[in-house]
Amino acid sequence: MRATAAVLESAGAQFALRDVELEEPRPDEVLVRVSSVGICGTDLEFATFFPTPAVLGHEGAGVVERVGARVTSVAPGDHVAMSFTSCGDCPLCLTGAPAYCHGFDALNFTGRRPDGSSALSLDGDPVNAHFLGQSSFATHAVAPARAVVPIGKDIDLDLVGPFGCGFQTGAGAVFNVLRPQPGTSLAVFGAGAVGAAAILAAQVAGCAVIAAVDVNAGKLDAARSFGATHTVGPDGGGTAEALRDIAPHGFDFAIDTTGRADVLRTAVEALGPLGRCGVIGVGPSTDMSFDWRSILNGRTVTGIIAGSSLPRLFLPKLLELHAAGRFPVERMMTRFPFDRINEAVAAVRAGTVGKAVLTM
Ligand SMILES: [Zn+2]
Ligand SMILES: [Zn+2]
Repeated sequence: MRATAAVLESAGAQFALRDVELEEPRPDEVLVRVSSVGICGTDLEFATFFPTPAVLGHEGAGVVERVGARVTSVAPGDHVAMSFTSCGDCPLCLTGAPAYCHGFDALNFTGRRPDGSSALSLDGDPVNAHFLGQSSFATHAVAPARAVVPIGKDIDLDLVGPFGCGFQTGAGAVFNVLRPQPGTSLAVFGAGAVGAAAILAAQVAGCAVIAAVDVNAGKLDAARSFGATHTVGPDGGGTAEALRDIAPHGFDFAIDTTGRADVLRTAVEALGPLGRCGVIGVGPSTDMSFDWRSILNGRTVTGIIAGSSLPRLFLPKLLELHAAGRFPVERMMTRFPFDRINEAVAAVRAGTVGKAVLTM
């Protein structure tokens, strides 16, 4: 069938809306008509080096149009959020940790199915797709049934997409991994959409002190509205000193969403004894370092992928919190029509929007 996709024709280029050919779903796949898709920092990172031509996008939500012969979990007409995919058979999938699947990179980041094929082609040539189980910068996506999460038809499809990556990444780090007790302290480094989701989750968890650290004053204002009790910006003096004023004995928990070595070092050093720091962002630094003495007193630094979520179980819980008014993520969303994708990307890069969502 024909679909319209935002094709990345060369690394670092703008997206170009093109007519593409999309295969019918295979027996274990579904065809989703995409209603909306969030733009995540990971899309923008991968757009700088991913093999092209390619279709990115991994925060899609929509309506199932067709299902493969073996699919029983969803049916045509069902509303779904899409998330990362996993093999289902390795020890980590079998123990409920699909975000750490042995096949995670091969399944989510090669642009192809495991057999080397792509469901997407342009002018007869294959396009790298299947990005994080979907490639949803498109009007339609073929996704493994494992990677789609059925949701209620009463939920606005235009706000669901980012639950499949950014929101579950931030909230899952809090709810699934750090699990702060009520009354504890948490510092969140980077107050974009992922950080804001972590702040909202920390508030639900009952953290007494929630500090947001960012260089963007607008994002700090938003963080405060989401429940941050303290904010630390570029002109608040030294960040480390400002954090020590907030938590003189160090924070119980920290989360780094920035992927920057200097920020991670500050985050680790802001912890108290036995404090835990979750590393959840994709950013520019590949090497991270800190003084070994800074973790000698029981501090832990742990990487967390996709909030360590089992999306089929976790996304419905987050959507319940949203329905109860306790996870008001729509307040950070700015919607753009799909054909204004490059404008939306520019706004994300400039930091002028919290979470950009493309609507089809
Ligand atoms: Zn697996
Ligand atoms: Zn993402």
